[in-house]
Amino acid sequence: MADAAKDTTGRRALALFVPYRGRLTLIGLAILTTSALGVVTPFLTQRVFDDALFVPGGPRLGLLTLLVGLMIAIAAVSAVIGIGQTYLTTVLGNRVMQSLRDRLFAHLQRMHLGFFTSTRTGSIQSRLDNDVGGVQSVVTDTASSILGNVVTVVASVIAMLALSWQLSLVAFVLLPVFLVLQIRVGRVRRKIAARTQSSLSDMSAITQETLSVSGVLLAKVFGRQDQEIARYRTENDRQTTLQIRQTMSGQSFFAVVTGFFALIPAVVYLVAGVLASRGDTGISAGTLVAFTTLQTRLLFPIVNLLRVSLDVQTSLALFGRIFEYLDLVPSLQDSPDARPLAKADARGEVEFRDVRFRYPADSADPDDVGPWALEDLSLRIAPGQLAAVVGPSGAGKTTLSSLVPRLYDVDAGAVCLDGTDVRELTLASLPGLVGMVTQESYLFHATVAENLRYAAPDAGDEQIRAAARAADIAEHIEGLADGYDTMVGERGYRLSGGEKQRVAIARVILSDPRILVLDEATSALDTTSERLVQQALETVMSGRTTIAIAHRLSTILSADVIFALDHGRLVEQGTHDELLARGGLYAQLYAEQFGGGAVEARCADGVRFTDGKVLAARATDHSPAA
Ligand code: ADP
Repeated sequence: MADAAKDTTGRRALALFVPYRGRLTLIGLAILTTSALGVVTPFLTQRVFDDALFVPGGPRLGLLTLLVGLMIAIAAVSAVIGIGQTYLTTVLGNRVMQSLRDRLFAHLQRMHLGFFTSTRTGSIQSRLDNDVGGVQSVVTDTASSILGNVVTVVASVIAMLALSWQLSLVAFVLLPVFLVLQIRVGRVRRKIAARTQSSLSDMSAITQETLSVSGVLLAKVFGRQDQEIARYRTENDRQTTLQIRQTMSGQSFFAVVTGFFALIPAVVYLVAGVLASRGDTGISAGTLVAFTTLQTRLLFPIVNLLRVSLDVQTSLALFGRIFEYLDLVPSLQDSPDARPLAKADARGEVEFRDVRFRYPADSADPDDVGPWALEDLSLRIAPGQLAAVVGPSGAGKTTLSSLVPRLYDVDAGAVCLDGTDVRELTLASLPGLVGMVTQESYLFHATVAENLRYAAPDAGDEQIRAAARAADIAEHIEGLADGYDTMVGERGYRLSGGEKQRVAIARVILSDPRILVLDEATSALDTTSERLVQQALETVMSGRTTIAIAHRLSTILSADVIFALDHGRLVEQGTHDELLARGGLYAQLYAEQFGGGAVEARCADGVRFTDGKVLAARATDHSPAA
């Protein structure tokens, strides 16, 4: 990290504490008080020795009792203030981190889809968990310790100078050397810390990818467990080595500092002796005891300060990683004059006007922009129509469908809902207008009811049941052990593909969008489930504008308009009969994919048969061979 960047990172990290000014002041006062009290004690010790204990005529017990009483009182008051101070700093540190985590999470929620498709989920989680967690320990442990130790050191040094400047000179001669060494060690630490965090992030990504249900399944199916274990082991080894280096860097430095501090009193006695032998009688026994007491007391705060400053270097590396995410600008934002479009006011017309779009470049390689995924695409779907989108794999069907709810912004042209560019509508109004049912229905590890309520948090039990009935899944849910309160398992693995889809359809029914974007499932479903899903879909499609990435003949036959895409361009549009008569791409797809009107059947491995012949995978989207 360059020094300028480090400065801004430091300043931004400090700015996180600004909202807690009041509490910080209180902590500062507490620290000042305890530190000042701590310096008073050695002076009392000096008086004990010089005025109460070793005086001609024997100890003066009255004064001694008073001085000892004061020492006890100071210790007691310091302890009580210490407890309050620990409480305040713990609360402060945790609150600062809480708000940082909140900000980071909220920021990530607003990031565009492209960010997530080009970043490993594990890395994102790692910044939230490991990086914020790493900073947290530093912030909570050291926020006060810096101030406390600085005050103690300054007060002690002043007191030592007041007692004897000659002895102070001896005690501090090596301090500048320590400071220089400390800065060097700090730099090394910061570098190691950055590498440790990136290794931690890689490990999280590996764990997340390989220990998810899909990852484990893949490893099992391909017998890759040993390789996965080896991959984890390698990264784990790297990570451990880095952690050890991080902890050990600077330890010998600390050993030197500690050793030096242990030696100083001896040197101080020697110097005091030399001074006394020269007839300089300014140094009494009490002064000597008080001085060495102060000097020994310095060790702890100084070593602590050195440690803390190293920890701060480490945390700057972590803060840098956190701020890097916070600085990412969500590419989809409400334009200043964006207006909401209420569901009740929407008719559900969808229009693409000369749309050109390509996927954003990978953040790791910004120059690597792909070809146009959609080019010069214009189409219009009237309210309530069912539009079927067909085309070979990679033609741009999914891309087209994801522009309707503005998951991405177009590069040229416009996508309009009811004649308004989606970029002029508030982002918040889009989910109510456009609903999506994708092939891979995502369910949370929660109950069926909670998954359904995700679309409509205020839905009552009866509404939930009605939606489930409409999606033809009510009977199945009610037959489960806990009915609607049954946990669906991680990503819904406890439900079959068709059941999951119907739960997802029920969810869309609850959200009741004007426009439905539907990616029809293909090989995932058996014929019975497919029929059930089909029925559920027909219910949800009625009365809404529907854009279906169609794989089923029935959808295509009932479509009001069919759009045939190829290489990101709209090549044909019309009804089934019109397009068939043209004998173009659609006619070809129809013959190959939809069986030319023959009854669709499936064999055990899901490959479609038409008139007894196995279909080629060439133009067949999502076929097992594709
Ligand atoms: P279809 O749904 O018709 O199979 P897609 O819309 O998924 O086609 O893909 C169109 C083109 O865009 C393909 O060339 C594909 O590789 C590319 N593509 C799809 N998704 C992404 C993505 N997230 N990032 C980059 N390119 C993508």
